[in-house]
Amino acid sequence: MRLANVDGRAVLLTSDTDGIDVAEASAGRFGPDLPVIYQEWDGFCSWADAQEATATSAGSRPRVSFTRAQLRSPSPAPRQIVAIGLNYHTHAAESGFEAPTGLPPTFTKFVSSLTGPDAEVTLPPGGNTDWEVELVVVIGRTARAVSEADAWGHVAGLTIGQDISERVAQLAGPAPQFSLGKSFPRFAPVGPWLVTPEDVPDPDDLALGCSVNGEVMQDGRTRDLIHPVARLVSVLSHTITLLPGDLVFTGTPDGVGAARRPQRFLQSGDRLHSWIEGLGEQHQHFVSGAAAADTTDTRP
Ligand code: ZN
Repeated sequence: MRLANVDGRAVLLTSDTDGIDVAEASAGRFGPDLPVIYQEWDGFCSWADAQEATATSAGSRPRVSFTRAQLRSPSPAPRQIVAIGLNYHTHAAESGFEAPTGLPPTFTKFVSSLTGPDAEVTLPPGGNTDWEVELVVVIGRTARAVSEADAWGHVAGLTIGQDISERVAQLAGPAPQFSLGKSFPRFAPVGPWLVTPEDVPDPDDLALGCSVNGEVMQDGRTRDLIHPVARLVSVLSHTITLLPGDLVFTGTPDGVGAARRPQRFLQSGDRLHSWIEGLGEQHQHFVSGAAAADTTDTRP
């Protein structure tokens, strides 16, 4: 199943540009808001499975067509956005760190940084803004101290995230603090849609990457995660209670701009394209603060 947020309405996808309006098709039982769907994820999945099972009679259903510009974050109001640092050996090495042992390095991207998959992003003045393509987990069932074996059962689905990072703010101060430098407006594009784990080729081994102006910068596979999805959800849930609709950015592979020699950061006019096998793609373009459109509207 693929579930999209089209202008604030839940849409069950039948193609990359068409789907079934959930609220209309369910006569108001589910949707249109995405957050309430995650609150009733099990019931929603049963309903959605029945819809797919009767897809041949879909002609009478309320079909919607949409464009990329209408897509917002598939979970637009998570109560928590958890993000993991240094979760690929190659990225830990390029960043000059030992691969972490024990608890994964964890920070938040504040929810006001959340946006849809195809955003215009304003570059903070005086900053070094960098890219980090990441597999993002959407939580579907409350997870509290779950085992690794049970962890996937608490995942609603997977999507793409860009953990856009301003390295000056990220590394300022006497101790590392990641959350502020990674939480400027629209620094957390998520989407284009949620894909349930059973509908991706192998949820533990997906190719992911990104390019800047067509030049490939990152090219990895999620099988190289130090803490794979199940372990992350389990380990995090022993400290944090993960809630339906929460997002977990799982970390980025190597190839970030800060680790390049010479270093390379995003400039006004740059176009960032990100992809994950089976999940789709994202496109951001970057503008300088002076040239930027109003970013006070950060609706995700
Ligand atoms: Zn990251």
